[in-house]
Amino acid sequence: MPAGCADRRHPGRGPGHRHPGGAGRGPGCRGRCRRRPARQLGAAGPARHPRRRAAGRRGAARYRPGPRNPGVRGDLLHRGHEGRHRRLPGPAQAAVHRPLTPAPAVRPHAIHGGLVLEGHKAAAMAGGLRDCAPPPRLLLPLRQHAGPPCRPVVGAGDRVVRGQVVAVPEGAGAPVHAPLAARVLALESRPLPGPAGLPVPHLLLEPSGGSEDALLPPLPADADPAMLRRRIAEAGVVGLGGAGFPTAEKLGATRDILVLNGAECEPWISCDDALLRAHAGEVVRGARVLARAAGAARVLLAVEDDMREALSACHAAVDAENEDIEVVAVPARYPAGGERQLILALTGREVPRGGLPRDIGVVVFNVATARAAWRAVALGEPLLERVVTVTGPGVARPGNYRVPLGTPVAHLVEQAGGYTPAAARLLLGGPMMGQALPHDDFPIGKTHSCVLVLDAAGLRPGGDEMPCIRCGDCAGACPSRLLPQQLLWQARAGRLEDARGQGLFDCIECGCCDLACPSHIPLTEVFRRAKGELLAADAAAADAAAAKSRFEARQQRLVREAAEREARLAARKAAAASPEGVAAALERARARRAALQDPDAHE
Ligand code: SF4
Ligand code: SF4
Repeated sequence: MPAGCADRRHPGRGPGHRHPGGAGRGPGCRGRCRRRPARQLGAAGPARHPRRRAAGRRGAARYRPGPRNPGVRGDLLHRGHEGRHRRLPGPAQAAVHRPLTPAPAVRPHAIHGGLVLEGHKAAAMAGGLRDCAPPPRLLLPLRQHAGPPCRPVVGAGDRVVRGQVVAVPEGAGAPVHAPLAARVLALESRPLPGPAGLPVPHLLLEPSGGSEDALLPPLPADADPAMLRRRIAEAGVVGLGGAGFPTAEKLGATRDILVLNGAECEPWISCDDALLRAHAGEVVRGARVLARAAGAARVLLAVEDDMREALSACHAAVDAENEDIEVVAVPARYPAGGERQLILALTGREVPRGGLPRDIGVVVFNVATARAAWRAVALGEPLLERVVTVTGPGVARPGNYRVPLGTPVAHLVEQAGGYTPAAARLLLGGPMMGQALPHDDFPIGKTHSCVLVLDAAGLRPGGDEMPCIRCGDCAGACPSRLLPQQLLWQARAGRLEDARGQGLFDCIECGCCDLACPSHIPLTEVFRRAKGELLAADAAAADAAAAKSRFEARQQRLVREAAEREARLAARKAAAASPEGVAAALERARARRAALQDPDAHE
């Protein structure tokens, strides 16, 4: 008889029961005693036995607050279930209730899939927000945004001041500014972090320690929206959440809802939490600037419900600034901070497959982007620094740092006390979506939020890959509602176009399916590679199509020129055959003969 079973038929039942063997049932269960595998995002409460859930619904009236139920208070919140009260048996009830913060105006919608991951943010949050000392040299990548690299406008030997433009975009993109007064040492090509390791030009700068700067003139926050967008573009502001899309371009079309994303769901990253605690006022003022630039009527600021101090700071800042911004606590579940997942949770609107948030009238910015936009407008300060989490068991003093862009990772780790003997793996980003670094001579760019140094125990639990058993756990965990097992089969069979049709490009590479898979299949890696192959094939097809169209244009030009030549020849022949042409030819022949007979003409 299983101890602690939630089924009434099992003596000693209780919450938190797990059946022995993990098969979902114990002796005497008769097949109806199965736990849900994982709690869905936004779902109401931890997994419970189906019979207890039904009983809870039937008996909800018994647990309403009121004189008949003295143990249930209307101002109490049970484990994040806003507005719901559940009574646990016995004295445990008092222990699980805690004071309720005011009920939020927006209740997040449920989202499919995702995982509850163990948090590791406390160590980095303990030290507050610190300043990183200027490094002895800066490495400025000329591509810190989505789009082609910028063109440098300074060269080796030039002196630059803080905030000066050192590279400008060619087409779509964002300019790059000198984060500190410095001397340009060189322009060199270096690989970007990531498996592709694409070579990109980098400016190597030597900070001079000078305090000269070249800031832009401040603008009022209620300036014309076009002026605000222009200023944000001049300041080189891009999405600081990781995508790096130029902010001014995202603001180009009118949206009705602006979402600020402070839902930091990667388990080690806490830079947004630290930023909101320290600079919530600037974020709220940035929200006002972005909402005006985008023409948004409604602003939602999403923060994970376990970021309590950040939530309080946001509420206080909204009150202090008297802004009409809805602060929403979203359940702390990975990947709640994904753009599509957050939009669905906050608005109930689903971004269509293959579409963008703008298709449903929503625009999403990271909270750090909002702060950068406000600084660009109100202070005239380009994007010169960002907050970065340096954490993990492999660093001596984890923390959140204000870091000048272009600071090498090695210098940043040094600021955090250096590596510990346990350091085993270096990541740029979180453990779920970060990039493994082969060494620490990479710079911090606009989109890098975390340097994570793991020990051997912190590496992803792995194991020898085994065949897929079609259990469907990956599909249950997928926040994009995909069928990873199906995509896996198609990708490995080379049926990439079929995989595309099944939504391969909707995969956000969150890694949830990897963690859920009992066969240790590296699904995300397979999908990443398949997408790369499809993109390469698309690029090759586009090149071939462009070459074909150039060839066809040339053929058409040759045919046209030949036709024009023939037309000119025919016209000349026709002109020569006409009476006037014949008379003119005779006249020319006479003139030539006369010239030959005239002796003076030869002297
Ligand atoms: S990596 Fe892709 S397929 Fe796997 S769970 Fe995340 S979104 Fe779904
Ligand atoms: S979780 Fe793994 S084993 Fe189960 S269906 Fe998905 S890929 Fe197959």
